[in-house]
Amino acid sequence: MTTATTDLGRPDVHLHIGTERLAEGSAGTFEHVNPATGQVDKIIPLAGPAEVDRAVSVAAAAFATWKRTVPAERARLLNRLADLIDARTEDFARLGAMDNGTPMSGGAGGVGLSTSWIRYYAGWADKVTSEVTSTLTAGGDLGYTLRQPYGVIGIIITWNGPLISLAMKIPAAVAAGNTVVVKPSELTPFSGELFAELVAEAGFPPGVINILPGDAASGAALVEHPQVKKISFTGGPATASKILAACAPTMKPAVLELGGKSANIIFEDADLDAACGFGTIMSVGLLAGQGCAFPTRMLVQQSIYEEVVARVKAIAETIVVGDPFAPDTFTGPVVNQAAFERIQGAIAKAAQDGARLVTGGAPVQLDGDLAGGYYLQPTVFADVDPDSDLAQEEVFGPVLAIIPFRDEAHAIEIANNTRYGLSGYVNTKDIGRALRVAEELVTGEVKINGAASLVATRPFGGLGLSGLGKEGGRAGIEEYLFTKGVGIA
Ligand code: NAD
Repeated sequence: MTTATTDLGRPDVHLHIGTERLAEGSAGTFEHVNPATGQVDKIIPLAGPAEVDRAVSVAAAAFATWKRTVPAERARLLNRLADLIDARTEDFARLGAMDNGTPMSGGAGGVGLSTSWIRYYAGWADKVTSEVTSTLTAGGDLGYTLRQPYGVIGIIITWNGPLISLAMKIPAAVAAGNTVVVKPSELTPFSGELFAELVAEAGFPPGVINILPGDAASGAALVEHPQVKKISFTGGPATASKILAACAPTMKPAVLELGGKSANIIFEDADLDAACGFGTIMSVGLLAGQGCAFPTRMLVQQSIYEEVVARVKAIAETIVVGDPFAPDTFTGPVVNQAAFERIQGAIAKAAQDGARLVTGGAPVQLDGDLAGGYYLQPTVFADVDPDSDLAQEEVFGPVLAIIPFRDEAHAIEIANNTRYGLSGYVNTKDIGRALRVAEELVTGEVKINGAASLVATRPFGGLGLSGLGKEGGRAGIEEYLFTKGVGIA
């Protein structure tokens, strides 16, 4: 099959610092590989410490004015940005496909979700309140609190949702009165380029939102910069540990949104069409399984176990893997060669550890331009040992682990037997049981009888290896404000 995948022009990527739009960075360049073909498709400039320093200085200068800009004006600019992004929905869907192989067929939904986050935090800009504190203190003084922005926030994001990650972080930070220096992942530079152009078109004052293409070294320079007052990071736990270590000497705070190994518990009274449907599609189809909150461990009550395994197999085998630009493609390639090999390694290890391969397990070999792309079959293992690597380590690819359980207590025990704690899913018609299990799961969020929806109104963010802090809801804007207590004698 020969397609137009390689024919579509990738945009040139720039360093966006204040009013500057630089085609080169002092850290050289990165060869972006199109995951759909395995071929280099663009040379990306990389910000070095010099540009990071300049961007932080510009952001610090902009902060002096932005923190005093009336919140309604911050909200107006954010809403304008959301409108401009919506108007470019098709372009963002195309850029997402170019960035990391996200199929065009689902890309528009991601744009709508992203603008819902921007508008939600526009709404918060003028709703941040403080409190008057007790007058009955020993000193008898009246007091109040001030909720204040930190200053420059360093934002570092990963590659699986290049637009949504920008939308989950930047609006909350700037609505609260901070300015930002943002480093997208080097693997997905294109969505950030258009986002930066629309920030300028929306009329944000120069320096409030700066976007720098860069790699791990650029990210490290941003974390270490003394004028960066807080870090907001989305990515893997190993990188997050390095970031926390770099923050430690100066006690720089950090919000960390990391990985997951989320349990999808299916009780015998569940609506199996719904539970098996989203449980399969999200874990082995959507984004080729590259989602932090996806339900990658399916815990199934013994009495319905074989029926669920058969249903999951049937659903997984309907998923169309292929060219991200083809209209019937549901699942595109995984992000790069390293991920392609790592995921196949996890599949081989699961088989070695005695799990039963239900479907998939191999690469999908396409032809023509796509012959070198990183396509994998939706892969399902049953009878997975809850202590094995497949049940314990995040695969971040289209691989589902099905595990049987006896009863409610056993399901909770298996679900919580993990170093992660991002999301949990409970499927049952018994409302009492749903609420009990939701309370017992040691995770940052729980979804009852449905798929995770990443809505802006609800806090999202995990425990343990899944991270620190929240995005979404009131908690999401509070991450970007510190509280000062003021007393009046
Ligand atoms: P990663 O940690 O390798 O990279 C993420 C970002 O960090 C990139 O921009 C990278 O350039 C930068 N980076 C790398 N080393 C750095 C350093 N030393 N200092 C500063 N920045 C550095 O990400 P990954 O492992 O490829 O991404 C996948 C992970 O992201 C998975 O674990 C996934 O679950 C997680 N994720 C979490 C969420 C969430 O919201 N919880 C969302 C999406 C992805």
